[in-house]
Order: sequence, then structure tokens, then C-alpha cells
Amino acid sequence: MEEVAAVSATDAVQDSCSLDNYLSQPDHTMDDRIAAARATLGTDVVLLGHHYQRDEVIRFADYTGDSYKLSKIASQTDAKYMLFCGVHFMAETADVLAKPWQQVILPDLNAGCSMADMAEIGQVEDCWESLGPDGKSELIPLTYMNSAAAIKAFCGERGGLVCTSSNARGAFEWAFARGEKILFLPDQHLGRNTAFAMGIPLSEMVVWDPYQINGGVSPDRLKAAKIILWKGHCSVHQRFLPEHVDRIRSNYPQMQVIVHPECRWEVCQKADAIGSTERIIEVIEKAPEGASFAVGTEIHLVNRLAKRFAPLGKKIITLDDSGCLCTTMYRISPQHLAWALENLVQGNVVNRIKVDDDVKHWAKVALDRMLEVR
Ligand code: SF4
Repeated sequence: MEEVAAVSATDAVQDSCSLDNYLSQPDHTMDDRIAAARATLGTDVVLLGHHYQRDEVIRFADYTGDSYKLSKIASQTDAKYMLFCGVHFMAETADVLAKPWQQVILPDLNAGCSMADMAEIGQVEDCWESLGPDGKSELIPLTYMNSAAAIKAFCGERGGLVCTSSNARGAFEWAFARGEKILFLPDQHLGRNTAFAMGIPLSEMVVWDPYQINGGVSPDRLKAAKIILWKGHCSVHQRFLPEHVDRIRSNYPQMQVIVHPECRWEVCQKADAIGSTERIIEVIEKAPEGASFAVGTEIHLVNRLAKRFAPLGKKIITLDDSGCLCTTMYRISPQHLAWALENLVQGNVVNRIKVDDDVKHWAKVALDRMLEVR
């Protein structure tokens, strides 16, 4: 295919490809259009789908996975266009890892991540400044994948790296081989759960609140801490509570509880197992027929697992009754997907995600270090 021009979502595109024309149509009318556009684009386009995407979208993905798996695929694919059915930081990561001639598309630019938004680069730089030369001489900055590219670059430039929930422990070990302390951004829960599982007591962890002077931490506590946790969280996983685990124990004594490490420490302590989305899937796959699980993660994945494993006699339910939905992931609709693909067929790249070159360099350093860690 010929190289096509990039336009922003707000630029005028041909009338037939205007987003409004798609959003007024029902979901199911998009299926044939998506399939036809995919067939026309062939191997020029690859669709990457995060596990938390809705069924009507993820069924079109060439690859599904958590952010670690998808970032590895993004670093290996040779497709000209990567269409990311996920959220903004994932598309940014794909662009950082992409080859110079590849372009990354996020079907809806409003698909962000509330956790990633909790660490702004100015706040992180202020924190680093406040720590002073002594406070950071042995400090390794480490960021969760769920952060802006600028935060990844910040860590890369200062000798740190990126991790995901799949390889957080390996990343902590990497950091402790090079320094005495870790500044972990932006998810306090993943940081706390990972460090605790490595034998670091809670008393050696502090929480840095960017909205308080000196992070709201006394100099003495800061000095004694091995782990400085940024005060961020996932609004989806933080909704799971210890009492949800208690209720499962009382209503379904045979059921195993498995939760994502973005859940609170109190919830993780009560669970039978903790794991990334890939790990959760693996545990359920390996479980014998008749096994049952209450799963503490995003509801689309839980429902999909319930459907998939029901014929094998495995029962899967959500840890809380209401089921936690990631509203930003949900923004990627079949209409947005059809719109992005049909625009590509027409020669328009819409919603391209492009990370600035200076940010890209150091973000790639941090991501490359991550890809070496398991
Ligand atoms: S589930 Fe949580 S961390 Fe993941 S994209 Fe949604 S808000 Fe962000």
C-alpha cells in the first residue's frame, strides 16, 4: 500500500469517513465493515487488543494480551500500522518500540487511564528535586507500564526502568542490584504488593503524596524507607475490598480467590493467588475440571473467562457483585474501530499516537531494560 497522510481526529476527513456517521449506527452493523476493511488492508495493519476490551472489539484482534505481552508484540511486528485497542499509554509504548516507518493508531483518543494520569511529569520532577542529592543517590526510579511516555523517559534517563504486573518482581530485583531504594510510580498497590512479596515489611515503605509538601513524608521516614510509593491507584482494581473476599469464603468455601496486584494489599493478603491478567488466565487454564474462581480484575475479562471455561466445568465469577468496568478501555467501540480502519483504506491515518523524539529515546531505554527482565 502507498504511504498515507496523518490527520488528527478533528481534521476534516471525507464525509463518508466522518466519525459521527459511525457513532449513530448500532454496534452489530460494524462487523462486516470491520472485516472488509481488514481484508483490504491485509498484513499492512495489525490489531492489538488488551484483555479488558469489550467482546465486540477484541474478537477482531490479531493478538490479545496484557500490556507486557502486547508491548513485546509491538516491538516485533512488521505491520505498517498498529491499531491499538487499549488505552493511551499502551499506544504510546507501541510507538516508542515501533520501527521508524510504523504508525500507531488509537481508535478513540479519549481512551486514557486514570492511574497513568495520577503521575504528571512536573510532579515527578518536583518529587525528585525534593529528595535532594543524598535522598536519591542510591534511588532507582521504576515506573509501571501504566504511565505516560514522559514518566518512562524520566526513569530511563535516571538509571531506572519500566515494569508490568507480569515482571514487577524481576524489575525490583534489577533495581536492587543497582541501588538501595526504589521510587515506584504510579501505582502504590502494585509497588506495595511486589515489595511485600519480596520480604520488605510495610514499615520500610512510604507513600509520596504529590499534593502535599515533601510528599507528606517526614525526612526520617523517608531516610529509613526502602520503597517510596507514588500515591496513585487503579480506579477499577481499588474497588475490590477485603469484605468481598470474606463474602466469597462464606458463600463458596471451595472457591479460590485470585486477584490482580493492582488490588489493595489487604485484598491481596486474603486472596489465594495474585497475578497479572496473563497469570490469572494461566492459573485457570491449568486448574482441574470442576475448579471455581472468584476473580478480582476487570469485568470484561472475567465474563470472557466464565464463558470460555464453563464447558470445561469451571466456574468463574467476579469478586464483587457489581463487577468493575474500566470505562476508558470501554471507549474503544466497534464504531471507532470501523472508523479508523475505513479511514486507513481511504488513505487517512486518524488518531495517530506519536511520542516526541526526545521523550522517545529515554522511554525506549527504560522499556528495553524491561524487555530484558522476566
Ligand atoms: S484497568 Fe485501571 S490501570 Fe488499567 S487502564 Fe483501566 S484505569 Fe488504567
